[in-house]
Amino acid sequence: MIEQTTRKTYKFKLKPTVEQERVLDRMLMLCRHVYNAAIEERREAYRMRGISVNYYQQKAELPDIKEAMPEYGEVHSQVLQDVVLRVDRAFQAFFRRMKAGEKPGYPRFQGRNRYNSLTYSQFGSGATVDNGFLVLSKIGRVALRWSRPVEGEPKTVTISREADGWYAGFSCANVRVEQLARTGQETGVDLGLESFATLSDGTMIHNPRCYRNAERRFKIAQRKVARRKKGSQRRKKAVKLLAKAHQTVRPQRQDFQHKVALKLVHLYDTIYCEDLQVANMVKNHHLAKSIADAGWSGFLTILTFKAECAGKRVIVVDPAYTSQTCSGCGAVVKKGLSVRWHACPDCGMSLHRDHNAALNILRLGQEQR
Ligand SMILES: [Zn+2]
Repeated sequence: MIEQTTRKTYKFKLKPTVEQERVLDRMLMLCRHVYNAAIEERREAYRMRGISVNYYQQKAELPDIKEAMPEYGEVHSQVLQDVVLRVDRAFQAFFRRMKAGEKPGYPRFQGRNRYNSLTYSQFGSGATVDNGFLVLSKIGRVALRWSRPVEGEPKTVTISREADGWYAGFSCANVRVEQLARTGQETGVDLGLESFATLSDGTMIHNPRCYRNAERRFKIAQRKVARRKKGSQRRKKAVKLLAKAHQTVRPQRQDFQHKVALKLVHLYDTIYCEDLQVANMVKNHHLAKSIADAGWSGFLTILTFKAECAGKRVIVVDPAYTSQTCSGCGAVVKKGLSVRWHACPDCGMSLHRDHNAALNILRLGQEQR
């Protein structure tokens, strides 16, 4: 088995002295000034001359800034370079979203309380660890509460000012991913509209209450879009509302899906699911379902990734007839979408429609292995 590694950030509480805290505050202020100046420069270059300034140009200007204003020499050069890199990322994100047809805000100046972190981009020079202390260039030895072991190789260190004090985050590469213990168990998973997922042992996983409201608003917005005439102003407005509703629903949905995926890979060695790409072609469509499909494929991506990291497997099966076939005897029992119960006239099997489908998925998966 190939050993999996990942990148991970370990965060620890810093215990700076009063003097160190003063220096850190001052550094943040200087970084913020550079950040704002870099935004200003890009904006003005574009406004006055129609040209764009890139990261490398701005990075090359840093030594001149230090020469003209010696106080910037108080900040390590890596940290200042990281500041202009942040500006660059903000602009990249801005342009990317413009391209995607969104209406992003222009990268903004950061006020005193909004600029709260600085990054040493090369661990080992500028920032290093010695005898349990974090040693930062221009600051000195800062005490740190090592609350857990650090794994992998530290690459960068980010110092952040938070509501309850200072923190250091070590971003480490090549952190070994632990393989989960085998359980010898397998399951079939039916993804549905009514409950999020149904397992072949009959367990139903419902969407959490916290986002049902958001989901409901989302559905109303969908319906509005569907009802309005294509190309009309009213429809454009409704599409905008839909996008907004989607934005609120997305992070909650992702969080939920991560939790479900984690639980499944803990419990099962092999997880069988419907092949959604095939499902999309086979099943007829309406809007609510196609949106749900998008959610499901996101879930399958998360699930597959987590399974791979943990040394487990996700196997997709052909979804044809999984809901119509009796999992007890194989007879085809036709039923419309609104019929939620599977009752087989041949063998007398009687269970929830989604539970029946999950059992079929499990059987199909085991057959094709
Ligand atoms: Zn039957």
